[in-house]
Amino acid sequence: MTNKIVIDELLCKGCALCTEACPQNLIIMSSEINRQGFLPAQISAENLEKCSGCTMCALVCPDVAITVFKGCA
Ligand code: SF4
Ligand code: SF4
Repeated sequence: MTNKIVIDELLCKGCALCTEACPQNLIIMSSEINRQGFLPAQISAENLEKCSGCTMCALVCPDVAITVFKGCA
């Protein structure tokens, strides 16, 4: 069982609060602009495997762009 987060790129405004909030520094900002003109947050497949499912990233996101799934198969 693993945890998983999904970042909705279309909702992300690129504020980077989630990158600061993640205690494991798993989230980074993309270098590619999204359709809204922002640099969205992203998480690599490798870092996704390290996610503890703490939900801190989702809690601080002002745009509700992050969903945390705990205990995904
Ligand atoms: S759920 Fe916790 S560990 Fe996982 S990416 Fe978000 S802040 Fe980081
Ligand atoms: S906190 Fe939300 S809006 Fe801000 S960069 Fe992270 S996902 Fe995007």
